[in-house]
Formats: sequence, C-alpha cells, structure tokens
Amino acid sequence: MTDFITRFAPSPTGPLHLGHAYSALLAHDMARAAGGTFLLRIEDIDRTRSRLHWEDQIYDDLAWLGISWDEKPMRQSDRLSEYKLALHDLWNRALLYPCFCTRRDISAAVSAPQEGAEPAFGPDGLIYSGTCREQYIRSSSFPKHDALRLDMQDALSAADQPEFCYTEHSSGTDQTHCTPAKSMVHDVGDIVLSRRDFLGSYHLSVVLDDAAQGISHVVRGKDIQPATPIHVLLQKLLGLPTPTYHHHRLIRDENGKRLAKRDDARAIATYRAEGKTPDDIRRMVGL
Ligand code: GLU
Repeated sequence: MTDFITRFAPSPTGPLHLGHAYSALLAHDMARAAGGTFLLRIEDIDRTRSRLHWEDQIYDDLAWLGISWDEKPMRQSDRLSEYKLALHDLWNRALLYPCFCTRRDISAAVSAPQEGAEPAFGPDGLIYSGTCREQYIRSSSFPKHDALRLDMQDALSAADQPEFCYTEHSSGTDQTHCTPAKSMVHDVGDIVLSRRDFLGSYHLSVVLDDAAQGISHVVRGKDIQPATPIHVLLQKLLGLPTPTYHHHRLIRDENGKRLAKRDDARAIATYRAEGKTPDDIRRMVGL
C-alpha cells in the first residue's frame, strides 16, 4: 500500500450515468495502479433529494463495473455532528452570518437598475449581494433555522494568505494552481455553508469528509474545478490538509452537452439492461 488514497463521492439523487462511471473507474484504476486505497462516499447531505433506492443502485452499478472499495462507505447523513462542530467553530470566530434571502431576492438585488453592472456569477451561481450581511446585528446564539453564509472578506482576513493554491495532477505532471485572495470577494462572494433545510453544504462537507477519509488525491470532474479555491480556503480556515487534485475531462453527449442525472438514456442501469458489459462501458468512456 502507498499513501495514495482517493474516493468516488456520488450523490444518491438519480441513476449513475456514463460520466459517473468514468469518474469512478478512473479513480479506482489510479488507486489500484498506485497500490493505494479507493474509498466510497455517499453524498446524501441533501435529504430532500437523496433516496435510499438510488444509493442501493450505486453500490450495485459500481460492483457490476468491477469496482471494489476498501472500507465501509462513508455516508454524509452520519456526519451531521461533525458539520455542526465546524459551523459552530466558524460562527464563534464571527465568520458566518444568518441569511434568509431567497434565490428570487438575490436575483432582484443584483439586477436592480442602480447596480448598473451585469450580474456576476461564481461557482455557486449568482454572487450574493450581501443584503443580510449588512443588516445583521450580531448575537451570540447560533442561529438554528437560517441558512449561514461565509463572510468572505472576514474569512480572507482570518485565513491570512495572499493566494489559495493547490496541486493539479494531470498526465503524470504536477502543476500549481493559485487564486489570489483578493479576487475571491468578487469572483466567489459570501457562499452558503449551511442550508435552511439541511445542516451544512456541499463545500463544507466535502472538505471535512476528504480530510476525515484521509484523501491524498481527489479525482473529480472539471465542472467542479472552479469550486476548488473555495475548498482550499475552507481547509486553511479549518486547519485541514489540502489534497492533490485531478480534475478530469467530462463525458458529453453527441451535442457536446455534459451528461446530467436526468440523462436516463445513458444510465449505467439502462446499458446493463440492454446487455452491455463493463468492458463496453470502459470503451464508451475512452478507458
Ligand atoms: N457529490 C458530487 C457529485 O456527485 C461530487 C463532488 C466531489 O467529488 O467533490 O457531483
């Protein structure tokens, strides 16, 4: 065994499709080639969309593809107390504020005529205009029923880094990618770290879980790469290590569109039912 530890982290909100198969097979092959460890994590933090039958289908499809995982899968729904601890820590350091703006409020605020400029988009969609931050009068009690946003300006001061860097490993070489701290306020903004309808958010849970699973190499799609500087910032704030990243190419349909969960026609289960083999799937994704 080497210290290469990677993972596949699907959300059980729909069928796995060819894009997931590529991601899982690639991470699994890399771990096996390195004599390392391949782990599975079920990202079921969004209880409104996650379903147990999709989780079962994930285990079944992965096993059919010839993928084996080296430990019991981690499930985010078992980790809420860890997310809560981290949120309390950030709250006590005055880096979070409660926010009750809806998506509609946010688009209305950024498209108000007096703003003049075009609405800006970041890794989480429209960049938050900061209405709740400006209105908020700090209290000591942790808000239980609101979404919580990271005060990006204060978070950058707390992290005290001129830039957020990570190593991108691709085609056998390592490259350093850095994002200047000063661009994070305008290009990312005050991201949500806990939602009103469930504790935590993708950005918070992914950094805590990667650290808890001891992940040395994160293998995931290029679509998530714009969020990686956010993850590096959170790792710095929470005292967690930054793994090496490999953001892989995306599997697209014949029109060049990235496959989505609703692409049932390309679901692994559909190909299985049609009599395709795991080797056919490997060929289809170019492995
Ligand atoms: N759960 C995410 C997805 O299904 C994966 C995120 C990640 O690998 O960091 O897209």
